[in-house]
Amino acid sequence: MRIVFLGPPGAGKGTQAELAAARLKIPHISTGDMLRSAVARGTPAGKDAAEFMNAGKLVPDPVVLKMLEERLREPDARSGFILDGYPRNVEQAISLASLTQIDRVVFFSIDLGALEDRLVERRVCPQCQAVYNLKSNPPRVDLRCDRDGITLVQRPDDRREVVEARFKTYLEQTEPLVRHYQELKLLQTIRADGTPEAIAKEVTKVLD
Ligand code: AMP
Repeated sequence: MRIVFLGPPGAGKGTQAELAAARLKIPHISTGDMLRSAVARGTPAGKDAAEFMNAGKLVPDPVVLKMLEERLREPDARSGFILDGYPRNVEQAISLASLTQIDRVVFFSIDLGALEDRLVERRVCPQCQAVYNLKSNPPRVDLRCDRDGITLVQRPDDRREVVEARFKTYLEQTEPLVRHYQELKLLQTIRADGTPEAIAKEVTKVLD
């Protein structure tokens, strides 16, 4: 199964991709995670990418495409994958179609108004990447990861001013993909405004 998870920032794609990938025994491939790792390692691609990411803009297509191409060539991606965060515009969708066939696109449908606070309250563990929400899913001990006790951090692009820019980028460049994949008859829409458990059920319904 070659699957794409599509939806606005903060809709729960990452959390759900992790769960579904474990269940289907295929890798979860997140271009955002790959880019953050390149930034942290200070690679040339990471240095190029950081400025765009911190401004809420898309990293240039060729940078992301090269990373993705390399990742899809790895043996674990041969039997399928869940792509989370790629494609982000129609050009990327066209590049993806020339690399591999996509079997299904799951669109996380949710009102953007519900997402801003969710993103601003998000904190992540810099060590194990566990994701928390200060309001709806706080760590047991204030600002410490439940798994390893490391101090949680806020992604630089989860600051309110950047979140607004990310929504603008989403509406202008990524949302047109809903229509694109509808026309290709690949789109399955799920409601992403419930609890993580409720969304997981919706995902299971359209994938299994
Ligand atoms: P995400 O973790 O998916 O929210 O991605 C975080 C940031 O990484 C985005 O706001 C973009 O700056 C960048 N990014 C992730 N995936 C892509 C992509 N497919 N194309 C361009 N930029 C991307």
